[in-house]
Amino acid sequence: MTADKTRALVLRAIPFGETSAIVTLLTRDHGKVRGLAKGAWRPKSSFDAALDLLSVCQVLVLRRSANSLDLLTEAFLEQRFRVGDCQAAVAAGLYLAELLDAVTVDADPQPTLFDLARTTVGLLSQPRPGTNQDQTITWSKNTAGIAALLVHAELGILREIGQQPALHRCAECGTPLEGSRIAFGLLAGGGLCPRCRRGQRPVVSVSAAAVHLLRKLAVEPILPNQDQPAATALGEVRAVMNTVITNLLGRRLKTSHWLTTSLAFSPGNHR
Ligand SMILES: [Zn+2]
Repeated sequence: MTADKTRALVLRAIPFGETSAIVTLLTRDHGKVRGLAKGAWRPKSSFDAALDLLSVCQVLVLRRSANSLDLLTEAFLEQRFRVGDCQAAVAAGLYLAELLDAVTVDADPQPTLFDLARTTVGLLSQPRPGTNQDQTITWSKNTAGIAALLVHAELGILREIGQQPALHRCAECGTPLEGSRIAFGLLAGGGLCPRCRRGQRPVVSVSAAAVHLLRKLAVEPILPNQDQPAATALGEVRAVMNTVITNLLGRRLKTSHWLTTSLAFSPGNHR
């Protein structure tokens, strides 16, 4: 039995027996890990809040044989997902956790993906009172900002798993994409020029404003003190991301409908 110490983000915790939990962690050094945390939900458990959803913690995982669950023996909290009553931030966090769980596999470390996830959870959380860390910047209650931040994270996740959609050039032939509307081929992997879109299915038509926003968010988030994106472009971008990710996974994420309504977009305009 080996012991691995690593930094981890809690993606899921389900009850096991009276007081224990089976915890799914995205770890920085060992990829996704599932482990049994004995007594995690006992009052005064040594795990405390370290195993709450989207907590970042230092964990010690005891690796067991292939047929038994690993054991999580220690978890020290480093950063909490603390969003108060901001429903948009809660929904964005839950969606992010479900997405990360869906696109990662066990024991395949992706440190850049981990760092992106950790940073996003940190930005969604409200600054901790008494610390001087990024005190001036908070996304709390800024629904448009949260929606844009999440798309930035999703595009980064897609990039890290080799599924970033083509946004600047035709996914098929490399011709620069231009025009007032751009065809987005879901199987082709992004934007398509008029010539290549013929016969392609499924294709969604996206406005130039939404493509411009996607290009921007693929590079950087929009800070709360910067000009916020227009609601129409943001709603369209949300619908595109829902469609792209549903198509990639072959199923809708359970949290996607709640996310869309929490971000105040009409749930009717996406598939
Ligand atoms: Zn083309």
